[in-house]
Amino acid sequence: MPMSDAAARAGAVLTIDLDAIVDNWRNLVARLRPGARAAAVVKADAYGLGAARVAPALAAAGCTRFCTATLDEALALRPLLPDADILVFSGPFAGTEEEFSAHRLLPVLNSPEQVAAWAAHARRVGRRLPAALHVDTGLSRLGLGAAEARALAVDRTAFGAFEAVLLISHLAIAEEPADPMNRSQFDRFAEARALFPGVPASLAASSGIFLGPDWHLDWVRPGASLYGVNPTPAQPNPMKQVIELKGRIILVRDIDAGQTVGYGATWRATSKTRLAVVAAGYADGMLRSLANRGSAILGETRVPLVGRVSMDLMVFDVGALPAAAARAGAFVTLIGEGNTVDQVGDAAATIGYEILTHLGRRYLREWRGSADAAGRGIAR
Ligand SMILES: *Cc1c(COP(=O)(O)O)cnc(C)c1O
Repeated sequence: MPMSDAAARAGAVLTIDLDAIVDNWRNLVARLRPGARAAAVVKADAYGLGAARVAPALAAAGCTRFCTATLDEALALRPLLPDADILVFSGPFAGTEEEFSAHRLLPVLNSPEQVAAWAAHARRVGRRLPAALHVDTGLSRLGLGAAEARALAVDRTAFGAFEAVLLISHLAIAEEPADPMNRSQFDRFAEARALFPGVPASLAASSGIFLGPDWHLDWVRPGASLYGVNPTPAQPNPMKQVIELKGRIILVRDIDAGQTVGYGATWRATSKTRLAVVAAGYADGMLRSLANRGSAILGETRVPLVGRVSMDLMVFDVGALPAAAARAGAFVTLIGEGNTVDQVGDAAATIGYEILTHLGRRYLREWRGSADAAGRGIAR
């Protein structure tokens, strides 16, 4: 007997549109003030979509600077992006400095300790090694505090030992343009920039870009918006949708009024209806918080998720549809047109970012787009 192919076996199919990612990058670049440039944030495996595909596609479109969170992510990208700048947001953990310089990676120095260790490493190798410097302006996460930044600016033994190629800070509430914290962080960052004259500066991530040209400075650092998340949640999404996730109906069953669905029996049919049981669950990143709140699209119709999400399965009430519409083997759209990543995030009481980064490992992943060429030879 012939073997079935991956598409026939797949419980769910995730399609990732690389052209849409590239279009989103170009869309953002077109909004920048003249002179400002965009780095692409590809941390967490490009927000779950596959950095090994996404980063080369963006590089082919002209992106020259990429950001990861960890050294391992950057090391994995280096062979695919031999000439690009690769920044590592978390900076060097003690003892990893040599790997940064050996692979020409740019650490983001986030604390006096990281600054001192990088400066010591630069002195050891006898070169002013490049690095980015992070100053905290209110997020209280990574970055030098104001006093630490002032101390560094006058400390020639540390600051003179390496080359600061970028000064960054990160906004806490950029998706709410009216919040005064944005301006306050901008002003604090201006003070920090004055301490390090001539060093290019970067403040805005996806939502920060939409605060206006003043916020673009020299570099912006979009991530989520590249992948279709709305950077302006109060307004229509200016970005293209990038992913489509389809789940296969394993079977359709009729139930009577009074019957319950799923673990915990949290949903009870009020009348006779029909259920579609779909082959994706929380092990695939469909969060349990979607229980009795999520939905899928079948044909053109929104069908509600009923009961809890289980590890491998979700159940949808398809009783409103004609019998022929919901049949074993058909697919429902779990994420995509009519059910965007932001909408799924809302239904799951979280944000699109978390939906993307939780996308599971069991899906059949298919890439669409010109950048197929750029991704050739890279194992799925
Ligand atoms: C994740 C991250 C970004 C990208 O943020 P988005 O909101 O996804 O655009 C930019 N800068 C830093 C420091 C980050 O950690």
